[in-house]
Amino acid sequence: MLDFDTCNAARLRRDPAYDGLFFTAVRTTRIYCRPVCPAKQPLTKNVIYYPSAPAAERAGYRPCLRCRPETAPFCPAWNGAKTTVERALRLIEGGALNNAGVGELADRLGIGQRHVSRLFQRYVGASPLQTARTFRLQRAKRLLNDTDLPVTEIAYRAGFRSVRRFNATFVEIYGRPPTALRGRSRALDS
Ligand SMILES: [Zn+2]
Repeated sequence: MLDFDTCNAARLRRDPAYDGLFFTAVRTTRIYCRPVCPAKQPLTKNVIYYPSAPAAERAGYRPCLRCRPETAPFCPAWNGAKTTVERALRLIEGGALNNAGVGELADRLGIGQRHVSRLFQRYVGASPLQTARTFRLQRAKRLLNDTDLPVTEIAYRAGFRSVRRFNATFVEIYGRPPTALRGRSRALDS
């Protein structure tokens, strides 16, 4: 993880080279952003930096609706040598944790469950289950934005086990139901 001053300088000049390398969380608004966010910049005393979108969400922050930090590329520091984590992330993105537990995921990776958890804490900043939830929400948001599918269909396609679960998770993370976000995204896009 980069140090505070490096992140802060990159945020203040909205440096695209740092997009995906850190995320800016604003204590006063409980929103987190990418370094390139076009919104008015928060005061330095109000910000905290996180290495990943799941880490910021785990700390209770909601993604900014302007810069969409939950769709930013994952931190390149996880790439390269961290092939196990990459593979785990691909499996999770493909739905490996939608109907199975972390134990099954660990078996597919050929390592122990506790090792998986440690790798995720270190390189992702969130647990495998939290990461899976972030992926499901990303997919759901894409479907809400790009299609006219009913919310029920989107919940299942995104990997949620029930519409109720989908709605509850969505409200928890975004502070509004999926249907409200769909209307808002459309309004912002048009
Ligand atoms: Zn933002």
